[in-house]
Order: sequence, then structure tokens, then C-alpha cells
Amino acid sequence: MNRSKPVHAAPTQFPVIDNCLQVGGIALPLLAERVGATPFYAYDRALLTARLAQLRAALPAAVALHYSVKANPMPALVQHMARLVDGLDVASGGELAVALDTGIAPQRVSLAGPGKSVQEMRQAVAAGACINLESEREIRLAAQLAGELGGAARVCLRINPDFELKGSGMRMGGGAKQFGVDAEQAPAMLALIGALGLDFVGLHIFSGSQSLNADAIMEAQNRTVELALRLAAHAPRALRQLNLGGGFGIPYFPGESALDLAPIGAHLARLCEQAREALPEAQLAIELGRYLVGEAGVYVTRVIDRKLSRGQLFLVTDGGLHHHLAASGNFGQVIRKNYPVAVGNRMAGVDSAPASVVGPLCTPLDLLADQMALGHAEVGDLIVVFQSGAYGLSASPAGFLSHPAAREVLV
Ligand SMILES: *Cc1c(COP(=O)(O)O)cnc(C)c1O
Repeated sequence: MNRSKPVHAAPTQFPVIDNCLQVGGIALPLLAERVGATPFYAYDRALLTARLAQLRAALPAAVALHYSVKANPMPALVQHMARLVDGLDVASGGELAVALDTGIAPQRVSLAGPGKSVQEMRQAVAAGACINLESEREIRLAAQLAGELGGAARVCLRINPDFELKGSGMRMGGGAKQFGVDAEQAPAMLALIGALGLDFVGLHIFSGSQSLNADAIMEAQNRTVELALRLAAHAPRALRQLNLGGGFGIPYFPGESALDLAPIGAHLARLCEQAREALPEAQLAIELGRYLVGEAGVYVTRVIDRKLSRGQLFLVTDGGLHHHLAASGNFGQVIRKNYPVAVGNRMAGVDSAPASVVGPLCTPLDLLADQMALGHAEVGDLIVVFQSGAYGLSASPAGFLSHPAAREVLV
């Protein structure tokens, strides 16, 4: 028996000409030739630029926009983003190096993440990047390194808030967490930062990720500003930065729709006014990863076999979970759902029977589309996974099964 999964709204960000998807203005089969091999990820520069323009238009100019590099650390893409955003947020020494290579002013780079190594902290202090301190150990280490390197360490205190972004895909604040210092401990930590003579820049409060609910995001922003105002009274000097976190999500699954930016923009304008009175020196910032890059990317893989098993059609491709763990449903999903998938060189029409798109790995987890309504595909055709610009290649177990690596291209 064949049962089709619920249907996605067709992604509209990439044009279709003569039944072929166009990425970066290039027809997919030609782009595959230009890349030289499948599978590959392709990111569309014009879409990245347009997304930033759309955000700038919707949000108040007073709010700085940061790019969270971990969403997609491809150097050429980070280079492109560095010209569009106000800051780059990195989460490792490796990402810090990629960020600095773009030529962005080091003061506009900030390093976050639990368990920063001494080496990573030294790199950041030496570069003059801002470090989001997340424990008493990190506070003392920053002061020690600043002494050794003969400069001031620019620091923010990252707070584990006493609330979370409701309904967010991945919980990163509220309750007991390894991220930041608990809001209850923050006054003592702020006093320590002052006593050790660190260059205190401000607060970083991140409460969640992948939310499509504007009301939930606005509520979290309210609570973030309230918390920041409470903590500012304990700060060693006036806040120069208040990073409100991000959490803007993109639609992946059937029934999901795009986040409505308009109410968030109006709400942020009111918050900016409130903050201007209480924290006159503070630059408000939001940090976004997947919202900036996720919809601008596709993963492209080629059909290498077409099989029927007990009445079900399988398209076996040269790519799979080793390149795209998230699309296989094994990166933080509770119930596996299909990403939007299409046959990129035969965009018109849907086959009578649903198909499952699988990869070459010897495990049933290697599933890119489960019983999905797709165009008719033969060996050699190109399967496209949309919404793949964030948490794709770098978030996948590339070494598993020792198949060739995927390529990446920015067009
Ligand atoms: C991962 C992360 C982000 C980015 O999250 P997205 O869902 O990609 O927007 C932002 N801030 C921090 C602190 C993070 O760890």
C-alpha cells in the first residue's frame, strides 16, 4: 500500500525555467557540471543579500544584526555575510579564524559557547574579539590572559535566563543549562568582572532557536529586556551592548509557514525606545543563523539507482545523511518529517506513486525523503533538498561510511 506524506508548500525562492530549478541564476544541470561532481551544496548569493535587505526593512535601524557562523561556516559564504551584517558570532577558535579572515573589524566578532579552551580564549583576547563569558572559570581566565597578553579583554556576560523561548526547536535557555551563567548568579559574576578590571561590554541573553511564532519571540524579547534592566544595576559600568538572542525560524515541514516579521519589527522599535531611556549607551543586537542563510541553500544529489521493493519505489542517490543529517531527521527532530524535496531537472508534474529518496549508506537511517510525492525521476536525475543553507554539511557526520565528501559552491 502506498501512502503519501502531507505535502509542502512549494519553495518559491528559486525560479524554474524549462522545468529546471535555477540556483544563482544557473540551471541546475549546468551548475552540476560547473561544480564538477555530485553531491553538492549550492548557496545563492542574491538570496542571502535579499534576506538581509528584507530584515533591515522590517526591523528598526537601531538593532544590530549579527550572523551566527555555526549555521554555515563555509568561508566564501561567511565572507559574503560579513559585508551585510553588523557582527559575526562564532562558537569556536576555528570559526573565529574564518570570521577574522573576512577582514571584519575584530571588535565586531564575538565568541560564545561553553567550555572555551585556554587556546581559544587566548586567540580571542589576542584578536581583540569580544568574549561572551559563561562561567567563573572563564571570567578568571580572561583576566589572566589579558594580563599575559598585555591588553584589555573585551567581555560580555552570557546569561542563562530564567525563562525560555516558548515552542522553540532547540531549547538553549531556562532551567539547568551548560550555557551562560544562571541569572541568579549574574550579580556576583558582574561584580567579579568589575573587580578583575575586564573591559565589560554588555550582556548576551539567548533563549532559544527555530521559532515560527512571532508572539513567542516578542514575549521572549520582553523578558530579555526586563532581565537586562534588572542586571544592569549590578554591572561594573554602563552596558554598551545588549544581545537579545535570536530564535527566528524558517519553515521546513508541511503546514509550517514563514515567520511574520512585521509585528516583531514594530515591537523591537518600542523595546529600543524603552532601552534608550534605561540603557542610553547600549547597542541592541540580535543574532541569527538559520534565518539568514537556511532558505538560500540547496543540497543536490544524483539518482544512481531506481528500485521497487514490495511495491514501494526507492530512488537511491549518491548523497545522504553523511552530508545532510538534518534532512534525514536525525538532527534534533523528535518525529521524522520530510524536508521539501524535488527533482531539480524535472520540476513539472508529480509521479503517480510516491517515492522514497535514500542515500548509499548501509543503514535505514539514510533517508532523505520518505514516501513523498515527487516528479518522475530516472537514474542520472538531480534530487534537490531545499531549506539546506543552515546546519547542513558542517552539522553532518562526513566520515560515516567513508563515502566522498560533498562539495560546496556559492553562486
Ligand atoms: C546556534 C546559536 C545561534 C543561532 O541559532 P539559529 O537557530 O541558527 O538562528 C544563535 N546564538 C547562539 C548563542 C547559538 O548558540
